[in-house]
Amino acid sequence: MKYEPVIGLEVHVQLKTRSKLFCACSTEFGAEGNRHTCPVCLGWPGSLPVVNEAALALAIRAGLALNCKVAERLKFDRKNYFYPDLPKAYQISQYDMPVNGKGELLIETKAPDGALVEKTIGITRAHLEEDAGKLLHEGIPDGSLVDYNRGGIPLLEIVSEPDLRSPQEAYDYLTALKAILQCIEISDCDMEKGSLRCDANVSVRPEGQEKFGTKAEIKNLNSFKMVAKAIQYEIDRQTELVESGEKVVQETRLWNDAKGVTFSMRSKEEAHDYRYFPEPDLVPFTLSKETVAAIRKTLPELPRERAKRFVRDFGISSYDAAVLVQEKGTAEFFEACVSAGAGAKAASKWVLNDLLAILNEKNSAIGDCLVKPDALAGLIRLTESQTINSTTAKAVLIDMAATGKSADAIVKEKGLAQVADTGLIERAVEKAMAANPASVADFRAGKQKALGALVGAVMKETQGKANPKMVNEILLKKLSS
Ligand code: ADP
Ligand code: MG
Ligand code: ZN
Repeated sequence: MKYEPVIGLEVHVQLKTRSKLFCACSTEFGAEGNRHTCPVCLGWPGSLPVVNEAALALAIRAGLALNCKVAERLKFDRKNYFYPDLPKAYQISQYDMPVNGKGELLIETKAPDGALVEKTIGITRAHLEEDAGKLLHEGIPDGSLVDYNRGGIPLLEIVSEPDLRSPQEAYDYLTALKAILQCIEISDCDMEKGSLRCDANVSVRPEGQEKFGTKAEIKNLNSFKMVAKAIQYEIDRQTELVESGEKVVQETRLWNDAKGVTFSMRSKEEAHDYRYFPEPDLVPFTLSKETVAAIRKTLPELPRERAKRFVRDFGISSYDAAVLVQEKGTAEFFEACVSAGAGAKAASKWVLNDLLAILNEKNSAIGDCLVKPDALAGLIRLTESQTINSTTAKAVLIDMAATGKSADAIVKEKGLAQVADTGLIERAVEKAMAANPASVADFRAGKQKALGALVGAVMKETQGKANPKMVNEILLKKLSS
């Protein structure tokens, strides 16, 4: 029997606000421990929370971008549990009246045969909640420390429907979601800084069966690649279990990246009963249509719309467009490069194939890149005018990224310009022919292949700078005379 995986993702993103969700403390990252705390976020008796309007607006912005039904009336609830990073012993979250209800996200994903397909993934809800503090264990010999700076920072939890069917789809969903959230500027979505976190729910069921299998929830996933790897491991583990007649236990599991396995953290018997109840210190409230409409007006062009425009206006492939819009910075760089005069197809090729490879190697962002869009356009111009060939251009780009110099300057400085001097190329051709009489004879006897050796000899003679088209023309002329 074949088994089908069923996957649903819970994504937490930190909203980009200056102050916390229910108090005026700063959300600054990396401050000295417990610097940004106050009676409200430390849960002192008698302190009262106040909803941060900016956080609410960002949450609505995300809801609108994800086609969610934004609530007319919403409230906050207490989720009760005890843990040292939670000073109030409850987290203020949203239970049954979340700010954003059902929505959807259209993703582009690869079918098993490699074809690009579109798929709509349901969004169950996207609600506001506060973050917990952070426990520090490393390098502390006798106990642990707790830092409450993160406690009370606004999070948006985006819950997907169990619509995903493979690790690849989960990866593509996360990529599309991140592109949107970055595009609407509600979060940095930086997994390394913890401003985006993802838990994966995985189950398997016999193919053709409607009813879902028992799920396991996987935590401790620190990159999209890790999410995909952990899901695959979990699918294999659960499939093996059910194939051997055993049952999957509903539980929370942790991913161990070093070992490449998930392991049980707590099972259902130990699962929390959160005893949700309405937060008595924050009354339910109504969102006016005007408020929501005003936020909708400020939404920028979303990644998918942008990709469609790139295909329509610039004639690039939809695959290239989809990759370009994954990162806002990349899309903007590409557009600026085209505005600076580069052809769209060339710009897209140079950004996707060459510039991103250089950036990946340096692990740096396109915004910090020393090559600016107009400088790349300058490089492209030099290739189009055949001042340099593409091999030279690639080396020049690496130089540009390292020094911030223009392509023109580097080509001049290093004397890289192609030689388009007919006389010079003619002399090089004559020399090459004289030095390779066998190749000349072969070619004249009809062996087309012999031309390659002669071209190579001319290139060697001119240190690779001769204009290849002219070399070919002149060679052919001399060989046939
Ligand atoms: P819980 O009550 O355990 O938090 P929810 O119903 O809130 O479960 O769902 C949490 C996440 O798990 C959602 O993203 C949902 O799509 C996903 N999910 C629910 N049931 C399954 C299942 N059987 N298999 C895989 N994912 C599931
Ligand atoms: Mg849940
Ligand atoms: Zn505070």
